Amino acid sequence: MKTTTDAGGDVRLSGISKTYGSFTAVHPLDLTVPQGSFFALLGASGCGKTTTLRMIAGLEEPTSGTVHLGDQDVTALPPYKRPVNTVFQSYALFPHLDIFENVAFGLRRRGIKSVKKQVGDMLDLVQLGEQARKKPHQLSGGQQQRVAVARALINHPRVLLLDEPLGALDLKLRRQMQLELKRIQTEVGITFVHVTHDQEEAMTMADTVAVMNAGRVEQLGSPADLYENPRSTFVANFLGTSNLIEAEVDSRSGEDVVLRAGGGKLVLPEARCAAPTTTGGRVLVGIRPEKISLTHADDAGGIPEGRNRITGTIAATSFIGVSTQYVVDSAVCPEFEVYVQNVDRDTRLAPGAEVVLHWSPAHTFGFDAEQAID
Ligand code: ATP
Repeated sequence: MKTTTDAGGDVRLSGISKTYGSFTAVHPLDLTVPQGSFFALLGASGCGKTTTLRMIAGLEEPTSGTVHLGDQDVTALPPYKRPVNTVFQSYALFPHLDIFENVAFGLRRRGIKSVKKQVGDMLDLVQLGEQARKKPHQLSGGQQQRVAVARALINHPRVLLLDEPLGALDLKLRRQMQLELKRIQTEVGITFVHVTHDQEEAMTMADTVAVMNAGRVEQLGSPADLYENPRSTFVANFLGTSNLIEAEVDSRSGEDVVLRAGGGKLVLPEARCAAPTTTGGRVLVGIRPEKISLTHADDAGGIPEGRNRITGTIAATSFIGVSTQYVVDSAVCPEFEVYVQNVDRDTRLAPGAEVVLHWSPAHTFGFDAEQAID
């Protein structure tokens, strides 16, 4: 069901910034949100994501730059004249009105008399058709948040802005609502811009994620791209766990960079290295824990050629459901984290065991050690 016919255009921010006195909350930012996409602004508290969202909504006046919605320059328009609507963490439903009337509110305010079909469709969209005559306090947190979404969508905004809308929900409900919001966005087909500090939430829902840090976008991309190809240690660490090994460029071999690390040798495709690759250059080599295989030293002869390999000793293991986490001490990296799927588990892999860690160079990424931020 497409409940919105006017899907509108992109959100385009050009050189938009915000300063408060001498403090810059958002540095000049250029950002395009593709039409009909689910876009997440992701970052830690205070990085400027809410300020950016509020500038799109018109709730915050930019210090510089412009905001376009489709072809329209809305920079000077007040919030109520912009074709956007916002859902906040606090649902702000009218407690004395039932669910139907909460959702109908925007239509009635515009003088629309026959609201039954539109409100009914919207309640069906958020799967609350049966709850229409209940009051907000009779619904769960997740249901109330869905009412807030329905109320925000009823006037067919071009863009829906969501500011930490799931922040007040417990983890289980939060996960359900993530899938629910994604389904709703796919059905209505309008642009959603979602602010969150939760990387898993952004990765689950968004087509495109902008990772923000200290008022700047560090990296923009699909969840898979950001996870597989982080271009800074900040993004690598924010979107999951990565082992970072200090290494030094030794030589080049075809498309690869050969590095020395703790007496061993590592290979990194040059295309995956966001650092100068001149001999002697310092590089932080990153590898995700689940991309590493762990082999008992007695079986090391069976490891295929062409893989990066490091020897070490298991320091600790912990069972975490679908996988087991190993912490391995080695001369190359003091506390290597490795996750191995339980199907592959080898009972000899216990604390004290000598092991070889190995992985494909294609899964390795490299950062400039001089510019690394944690
Ligand atoms: P959170 O997740 O905690 O809301 P955020 O990434 O959304 O964080 P913003 O709310 O955009 O961050 O704030 C960015 C920075 O700007 C913060 O350091 C904040 O203290 C500051 N800031 C926001 N509003 C104002 C204001 N009105 N006056 C002064 N500083 C402000």
